[in-house]
Amino acid sequence: MKIANKKVTAERLVKDALAKAKHFADYNIFTFLNEEGAIKKAREIDAKIAKGEKVGKLAGVPYALKDNFLSPEGETTASAHILQGFTSPVTATAVAKLEAEGAIMIGRTNLDAFAHGSSTENSYFGPTLNAFDRERVAGGSSGGSAVAVALDIVEFATGTDTGGSIRQPASFNGVYGLKPTYGCISRYGVVAMASSTDCIGFFTKTPDDMDLLMSIASGQDSKDMTTLPDYYNTELERSHLGHAQGRSPKLTVLDETSSSSISNNHKASGCRVGIIKDFDNDSVDAEIRQALKEKCELLKSKGHEIVELEMPSLKYALSAYYIIVPAEVASNLSRYDGIRYGFRSDDSAVLDDLYDHTRSEGFMPENKRRIMIGNFVLSSGFYDAYFLKAAKARTLIIKEYEKAFSKVDFILTPVAPNPAFKLGEKVNDPVAMYLEDVMSVSLNLAGVPGLTVPAGKTKTGLPLGLQLVGPRRSDKNLIEFAKELK
Ligand code: GLN
Repeated sequence: MKIANKKVTAERLVKDALAKAKHFADYNIFTFLNEEGAIKKAREIDAKIAKGEKVGKLAGVPYALKDNFLSPEGETTASAHILQGFTSPVTATAVAKLEAEGAIMIGRTNLDAFAHGSSTENSYFGPTLNAFDRERVAGGSSGGSAVAVALDIVEFATGTDTGGSIRQPASFNGVYGLKPTYGCISRYGVVAMASSTDCIGFFTKTPDDMDLLMSIASGQDSKDMTTLPDYYNTELERSHLGHAQGRSPKLTVLDETSSSSISNNHKASGCRVGIIKDFDNDSVDAEIRQALKEKCELLKSKGHEIVELEMPSLKYALSAYYIIVPAEVASNLSRYDGIRYGFRSDDSAVLDDLYDHTRSEGFMPENKRRIMIGNFVLSSGFYDAYFLKAAKARTLIIKEYEKAFSKVDFILTPVAPNPAFKLGEKVNDPVAMYLEDVMSVSLNLAGVPGLTVPAGKTKTGLPLGLQLVGPRRSDKNLIEFAKELK
């Protein structure tokens, strides 16, 4: 990047990013600005470069960190009152990997408290404003990170995606946002929402930046038993391409001589791209449907084939998600009791009162709603009717994707049924807010990767985004193929 050849110093880059962050203060993007820490790190990198020492691939690149990643710099609050005052003794694996390559965190970004939400309005710190229309939501839960990249404050930002929290805000703000395959990037040191669907990912301005970040952050981690061996850097799973074209599936090791259509930055050709019939109806905004049609035409003109898919099980995804995820949320949030982390309501001598008051005051209404639903669906008598049924629906959804990817290489769908909506429009109607996630959650249940690709603007100037979906471990192919949509 620019600083290695001394065109600009790391200190200059970091100071510019901090100045921009302050300039856009009224968008409420950051929960913490890392002024001292970031400038200190930038100076260290500049000193290394001056001495001719080797620096990392991200040396001096300012980035924004979603405030549910643990690191000792600033408080990690997950935008929740109950974590106020909590400074982490540990550093998330993803953060450690980025910083080992010289990336510099200039601030922590706002989110829906504990990542529960689709608009960033559930944050204890208030909503983040959309980068293109200040009367509209940033999307969520990673709203702050999406807007930090969209307003060009930083080169990239981290996010977490449990049911759409990277892809939907990316589409609302016109940037790329990747939810990788489940297990691709370590979740160690990231505040857990729902452990079986949580994924770590990024917001960037280009597919190439996404590729670079993925190559740095992915890989197995002994601190997260669900991480996969590092397929991103060592092998390309092109089995799905073979499948769709009737060839026998094969795992190929990435090497310089490979002649795959997508690897080694060769232009992809002749891919089969599925579109889901059920998503083309009146409940989806007309301009989004139009954008999808235009992209399909573009792909056809580049020699790709568009295939209509029926995926009937996906209609169960939202219901299954809003049972499985609250169940896991209820378990994960039980650790916040006022004893170990952050905020404590009072020093009541009665332990139960201390828990009670801390949790009542510390959680946001949406957090409490999920704790209630989660405990309900797990309770004896209701477990079979709700949780078990949802788990079975999840299996159907996994199979539905496997079937689809035996026919196509990728699937292209809207990210959400609408572009960014108005602040206040849905926040008091939980079901309307949950419906935002109708197109994003099935990927998390199935563990497959999804990449938000910018797809133009509405007549009123709001960004539109589409979601490119691939089979598990096809992350690199997705990123490459996104270039075909330009
Ligand atoms: N909007 C979804 C929810 O509220 C997804 C959240 C997320 O991905 N963190 O559950």
